[in-house]
Amino acid sequence: LTRFVCLLAGVAAWLAAVSGCGSSSSPITPSPPPTVPAPSGNLQPALVGDALEYWKQAIGIEFVLLTVELPPRLLIRAGTDGLSQSAAGRGGIDGADPGNWARSGLIVIRPTVNSRIVYRHELGHALGFLAHSTLGLMTPTTTSPELSDRERRMMLALYGLPAGTRVQADGTWTTADGVTGVLDDLQAAQDIIDLNMNAAGSSRRGVTCRWQSPVPVYVRY
Ligand SMILES: [Zn+2]
Repeated sequence: LTRFVCLLAGVAAWLAAVSGCGSSSSPITPSPPPTVPAPSGNLQPALVGDALEYWKQAIGIEFVLLTVELPPRLLIRAGTDGLSQSAAGRGGIDGADPGNWARSGLIVIRPTVNSRIVYRHELGHALGFLAHSTLGLMTPTTTSPELSDRERRMMLALYGLPAGTRVQADGTWTTADGVTGVLDDLQAAQDIIDLNMNAAGSSRRGVTCRWQSPVPVYVRY
């Protein structure tokens, strides 16, 4: 019976390690689970780290990695759901609180993709760059690993204001609490209007949507 149990365990390493397997005096201890190699072609941890580090350096956005997937959270995972045949990934904000602070974001990376540009680009969408630009990291078919100066100024201005802020083309802005001010950078103001407030992916048109810093991130490897 003891030998039978050993065979059932079926783990060569376990059999080799337990020399007294056939002996009735050896207690049967649970064998360790066989080592299952991680499926290849899923998320690349180094590229996730690179993307988070890039946005931290470029815009000053901090991140905190969650060990449990609980809201609010930005989820990063591999997959092909929602991707057109040519798309390498997608990213966006898919939930916000009443103040329009982001509460839920999703990044899906095609499992075969091994490009730091794609990871950085999709993270940009999930941070509030909700449409595409014409030059730099956030263009639709980008080959740039870096934000253009204009893209960077837009995200700096966005993260310099609270979520729920109404920005106007003349640079004036009003927060949900009625605080007002003026952006000197009129291009950044217009880009916030076009690429965040009024973008197709915006949860509520007409006011800004962004994350509190640090952004809570859950990575599903
Ligand atoms: Zn994109």
